[in-house]
Amino acid sequence: MSAANTHPVVLRTNTVKRGRSTQTIVHSAIDIKTWLARIPSVDEVRPGQCPRCTAASRPVGQGLQIWGHGLRDRQSRGPLEALGDPVEVTLRVRRYLCRPCQALIVVVPLGVIAGRLFAAAAIGLALVLFGVEGLALAKVRQRVSPWQRVGATAHGSWLGLRRWVRAIRAGRLFVSVRRSPAHHSARQVAERAAMTLAALAPPSLAAAKIAERVFAGAARAR
Ligand SMILES: [Zn+2]
Repeated sequence: MSAANTHPVVLRTNTVKRGRSTQTIVHSAIDIKTWLARIPSVDEVRPGQCPRCTAASRPVGQGLQIWGHGLRDRQSRGPLEALGDPVEVTLRVRRYLCRPCQALIVVVPLGVIAGRLFAAAAIGLALVLFGVEGLALAKVRQRVSPWQRVGATAHGSWLGLRRWVRAIRAGRLFVSVRRSPAHHSARQVAERAAMTLAALAPPSLAAAKIAERVFAGAARAR
């Protein structure tokens, strides 16, 4: 058994204040679909070190420093595959407690974004459909959101996508995407973001459709 396969790859950590305690989110290398099929064991996704105090999980000659601290439910929205139907799923994410610094560490699947209900891949898919394929907002929503009932006033506008475009403009979402000039339209911002995310897809998808590349790239994006 290689250690590389049992420890999560820390792609991104976020620290969130919850009441008096601070929790840090760590991303595993396991994607949402795989995680749903089988929740990884406490050992499989135990962080190799604490993201806050950098204590090693298993220091040589000492006891375990990062303890399993149970499971927690977390909603995730969007399709599980680029061409799949949008769904809302409940992920059972793993929590750990760092004994030296008492940090609460939450390990989530690849492509779960702290503070957002939609998965990164779903947001990426919305950006490519809107910005590259030029679909109408209502069509984009059909492909990405599990909530299909849209009131009459919501036609032609989808707040979710508008919020994501605004967050990208402000550098709060997909920070690896180069900032767009202020005069760029929402579709232009979405297009630029989609092209950046497509480039992050694994090489095995080089010949795949752009929507599939963006879907895979978004889950890996910073
Ligand atoms: Zn610690």
